[in-house]
Amino acid sequence: MESKLPHIGTSIFTVMSQLAAKHGAINLGQGFPDFPMSAELIECVNQAMKDGGNQYAHSYGVPALRTALAEKIQFLYGTNIHPETDITITPGGTYALYTAFTTIIQPGDEVIIFEPAYDSYIPNITINGGVVVPIALSFPTYTIPWDKVKAAITPKTKAILVNSPHNPTGTVMTHTDILQLQEIIVTNNLYLISDEVYEHLIYDNKPHASILKYPELYKRSFIIYSFGKTYHCTGWKLGYCIAPDHLSKEFRKVHQFNVFSCDTPKQLGIAKYMSNKEAYLTLGNFYQEKRDYLRALLKDTPLQAIPSSGSYFESYSYASISNEADTLFAEKLVTEYGIATIPMSAFYHDGTDHKVIRLCFAKQKETLDAAAACLQKLKN
Ligand code: PMP
Ligand code: GLN
Repeated sequence: MESKLPHIGTSIFTVMSQLAAKHGAINLGQGFPDFPMSAELIECVNQAMKDGGNQYAHSYGVPALRTALAEKIQFLYGTNIHPETDITITPGGTYALYTAFTTIIQPGDEVIIFEPAYDSYIPNITINGGVVVPIALSFPTYTIPWDKVKAAITPKTKAILVNSPHNPTGTVMTHTDILQLQEIIVTNNLYLISDEVYEHLIYDNKPHASILKYPELYKRSFIIYSFGKTYHCTGWKLGYCIAPDHLSKEFRKVHQFNVFSCDTPKQLGIAKYMSNKEAYLTLGNFYQEKRDYLRALLKDTPLQAIPSSGSYFESYSYASISNEADTLFAEKLVTEYGIATIPMSAFYHDGTDHKVIRLCFAKQKETLDAAAACLQKLKN
């Protein structure tokens, strides 16, 4: 059979998690929390099942959940979003991204992404017949070089994808970034896909510059979220896409013949639990402590932090001790030091290697202590 994705291999997250399991290594590679989620939310879902919420949900999502989301958006961003027309519940953020790409891309359309990039973007664009236009974030600040973005626009450019807070680097877009983005999107009549799955995981008192706060941009945007990140339940695979009426209409055409609808009891349970604002308002402090805890533990190692202000992740340079490829360095960390990380080159289409690894700090203290004990064995 002719492959539709001839240049795509197995996701780095699968590769590193399997390697970690094989060698019994501590896993700071794939991003997921290793502590329990809210027992109260689990109870809400149990109750929804006992109450009979076990049949197909509305194709666009349980109405109570969409209403609760619209209220949350009003509370957080001061924006009125219509729950009937603008919100679609999806089986995870990854699926919502795929559906957004499928909705807009015609064969030959160019889509600008920034690298390092979350690993699903390139295959999502390629399988839809689009052409990926990767632009490298400036190293080591991992900021967006807006002059290069302007220079990359052609008559075939269809969309730009942004991700803030950013996986894998933890950088966050500022108001100034968004104004530059807005000018490019509006002037060139483009679409925007904004991956905001880490909206609450933002540190150092930085605000989340959600596209929901920019009405001119919102008109042209698909904005992607994940309950997995917000409620410490990545395995639930539930998320949503917010897009204006005319774009949601097309998104839903694709969605209805792909999954049709999502897990009913989880939607009902989350809808009920969402009245608890503390659960998401405290997330920034909660994770910032973890970032700082790991950073402090690694201070006396040869690893140099490249500061993160958001997401589950912080990157570390090992350039002071080794010049070997980051893939080999990461493999050695698993087999010889007992710790799994992600080599940053996996997030570049051409394997750009700055001698950087990504660590996930969404872990309990004991895990971070054990991980640091492994890394403290690295010698200058
Ligand atoms: N975008 C980014 C940047 C992510 O890190 C993730 C987490 N895997 C997703 C999207 C997808 O989230 P989900 O697990 O809900 O599919
Ligand atoms: N978002 C997580 C990460 O970046 C994991 C995603 C996945 O396993 N597909 O590590």
